[in-house]
Amino acid sequence: MALVVQKYGGSSVANAAKIKNVAARIKKRADAGDRVVAVVSAMGDTTDDLIALAQQITDRPEAREMDVLLSTGETQSSALMVMALQALGADAISLSGAQAGMRTDSVHRNARILAIEPQRVREEVERGRVVIVAGFQGLTAAEDIATIGRGGSDTTAVAFAAALGAGCEIYTDVDGVYTADPRVVPEARKLRDISYEEMLELASKGAKVMAPRAVELGSVYNIPILVASSFTDAPGTLIHGGADMEGFNRVRGIAHDLDVAKITVRHVPDRPGVAAELFQPLAEAHLSVDTIVQNASEEQLTDITFTLAKADLARALPEVRAVAARIGAREVVADERMGKVSIVGTGIQSAPGYAARMFRTLSDAGINIEIISTSEIRITCIVPEDSVPAAVRALHAAFELEKAETRDLA
Ligand code: ADP
Ligand code: ASP
Ligand code: MG
Repeated sequence: MALVVQKYGGSSVANAAKIKNVAARIKKRADAGDRVVAVVSAMGDTTDDLIALAQQITDRPEAREMDVLLSTGETQSSALMVMALQALGADAISLSGAQAGMRTDSVHRNARILAIEPQRVREEVERGRVVIVAGFQGLTAAEDIATIGRGGSDTTAVAFAAALGAGCEIYTDVDGVYTADPRVVPEARKLRDISYEEMLELASKGAKVMAPRAVELGSVYNIPILVASSFTDAPGTLIHGGADMEGFNRVRGIAHDLDVAKITVRHVPDRPGVAAELFQPLAEAHLSVDTIVQNASEEQLTDITFTLAKADLARALPEVRAVAARIGAREVVADERMGKVSIVGTGIQSAPGYAARMFRTLSDAGINIEIISTSEIRITCIVPEDSVPAAVRALHAAFELEKAETRDLA
């Protein structure tokens, strides 16, 4: 009898029929003898809808109250899931994040998990119940509700799997991790498995099939994570730290992100401390900045460009303008129509030629690269937003990702 933590995403519980479908799948698993803890997301676009609703009240809602509001999305689906299970004759109980023992820090809307105190979940499981945990939320030391960032139900599931010593299965509206978003590249191929490192790079560069922090937690606690479909029984993709990943001389996948804004501070006086002065207030406002480029300086003046999420642009600009005025920079320009495309694979670090092939492919497709950034196993290009789908498709073809890997044939 195995203990498993499952997670069902928003599109898998988007309406009553889908909730009933998931309940039947959970019950089947429990009837087969496994003990199930299932983390659920808010139904469909509920989280987005709640954010939009708050915006209609005020454009500066307090983060604490946003968390009270947003947590209700997951609370709703947890109760409805239990009702569906009970209607099928299963013994089940819903628990909010707080009741389930999820403890977080107090950074509202983007809290970090500090600890899981799983006693209550364990007790309920031992009573023979299916436990449905509301994802994405926890309780701060001050006993306030905090949410843990978009996509946080994935992170909730991996955290509970670690705390309970259970298996971890993420069920969603695709049947695994593909070489690229199958909605953008119809030829994309499902991967049988992928390493934590590769999945983390893909996820943090926009492959939203997994939340990056969930992958990070999986890697830290060495929890293999199965990504599979809520609707079919097709074999999914296993994210793990297996040994047989080395020497894999190929691009494994392509990630893209349409949520990119760019800020350039022009003619910044080139003296020690200006970069710190520029980024300190952004860090204090919990605005996370992605790719940063500082140009070589000319006549003691340089340009600093960086990217961030579009939703953060409105909050970041006044901060950046204030610093720019203080340090005597000439002007601040912003562009919110940017996107990002990345190739990822452990092979990239050992073999030359990937970068050249990526840039050549984009140039052949007539796509202008604005910024380039790399890690050991990733190359990212910032390009105009409207050219992202074409960029992903061209790169998928250029790196022949539709072709089966030899080990997939084994
Ligand atoms: P959930 O609601 O279950 O959390 P998400 O919408 O967050 O689901 O994530 C699933 C979506 O991720 C898919 O519908 C797909 O469009 C997208 N996606 C992006 N990149 C990939 C990829 N490489 N493999 C599979 N799906 C991907
Ligand atoms: N409902 C939250 C979101 O939309 C958490 C999640 O679905 O994982 O981001
Ligand atoms: Mg998700």
